[in-house]
Amino acid sequence: MSDPFKGIEPMVYQSKINVPYSWWAGDTASKFYITLRDEKIILGTKCETCNKVFLPPRKVCPSCFTENREWVTLADEGTVLSFTVARRRFAAIPNNKKVPVIWGLIKLDGADTAMLHYLDEIKPENVTIGMRVKAVFSEVRQGTIRDISHFKPVQ
Ligand SMILES: [Zn+2]
Repeated sequence: MSDPFKGIEPMVYQSKINVPYSWWAGDTASKFYITLRDEKIILGTKCETCNKVFLPPRKVCPSCFTENREWVTLADEGTVLSFTVARRRFAAIPNNKKVPVIWGLIKLDGADTAMLHYLDEIKPENVTIGMRVKAVFSEVRQGTIRDISHFKPVQ
């Protein structure tokens, strides 16, 4: 019996998968997002054992395993610890963002940890580690991290 697939070259297709999903944000993330949306206030949580302040807020301190019960209002200004520039468009870049896109690891005043967010209103070649930045809130806020539109240089 002859091989019915002899001479057939296997093909590879490129495609995309769109997977809608939802997840339970939990009480810590919910309070953080609701406060951000409704009051434009950035909250962190504080460990009562080691006094570290976490942003994004964490329910449990990863060092002490203490439940973080204290909320801390953080400044909307902070310091760039690191950054990277994407000069090509890819799936992780929202359609309303122009390339190049700059991501910064930003430590807000009063926090001991940093958050990843967009840097804008500055050219990539002018971004420096240690520069001071300030949060710019979105006009329409929906209870997501995108309620902070981006961070801009402090003038
Ligand atoms: Zn701790």
